[in-house]
Order: sequence, then structure tokens, then C-alpha cells
Amino acid sequence: MSDPIYQGGCLCGQVRWRAGGEPANVRFCHCRLCQRAVGGPFFARAIFLESIFEWSGEVTRWATSPRVDRLSCARCGTPLFAEPKDAPARLGVSLATFDDRNAVQPTAHIWVSEKVAWLALDDGLPRHAQGFAPTSHPTEAPDPC
Ligand SMILES: [Zn+2]
Ligand SMILES: [Zn+2]
Repeated sequence: MSDPIYQGGCLCGQVRWRAGGEPANVRFCHCRLCQRAVGGPFFARAIFLESIFEWSGEVTRWATSPRVDRLSCARCGTPLFAEPKDAPARLGVSLATFDDRNAVQPTAHIWVSEKVAWLALDDGLPRHAQGFAPTSHPTEAPDPC
């Protein structure tokens, strides 16, 4: 990859990643699987096609559903990626792991049907009770949860 547009990594620095293009979408996911996988009230993530994404380091992998594996740093445990198993090959990348945490902005909330009651949303972004339905467009892949 030549010049990455975005880069980031885990807390300890063992896992590093680089993206050579824009994310397909950037969303907050409030589903129960994401909550437990990241140890927080939601998963703020950018979806990158794997064709423009690369990462290095040792990770642990855990299937949180038949559709999705979660990848964390094998040393410090930082949750980094959600990897859907359906096409196209893509990764959900935690916005908290971007070196520039404000580099991209989420544009929607999904799975608000499972949102924690003590979190108030007042950002005016669209809210969807569940995930987005799959479409045939490669950059509008279904949400990974
Ligand atoms: Zn680490
Ligand atoms: Zn989710």
C-alpha cells in the first residue's frame, strides 16, 4: 500500500492497521453482540473493504455469531475488528483505534432496539431499529453483526 489515508492500532502497539481508501460506511452499532465484544455500550466502527485495508500483528479471533468473527490484540486485548464471513471481504474497524479518532464521522445508529437505556442519543443522526438489509452494491454491504 502506498500512502494510507487512515491508520491506527491497539493500545500496546502490537497490532497496526492501514487503510488506503475511504470506508464504505461509518456507523454506531448498539446490538448486544457488539456491546459485549467491545466491552462498551456500542461499537463505533468504519467498514473497509479488505482490498484497501491491511493490518499486522498477532490477534485472537472469536466468532460472536455465525456471520462475524471478532479480532482483538493477542497481547493487550484491544477489540479492533469485526470480520463478516459473507462477501464482499470487509472489516468493521473500531473508530477508537484510529490514530486520529476524529478522522471519520458516524452517519447512523443501527440496532437501537438493543441500545442501553442510560445512553441518550441527541446527535440527530438516523436511527435504525436493526441493521441495514443486504444490497447488491459492494460498498453497501450488510452490517456485520
Ligand atoms: Zn495490543
Ligand atoms: Zn452490532
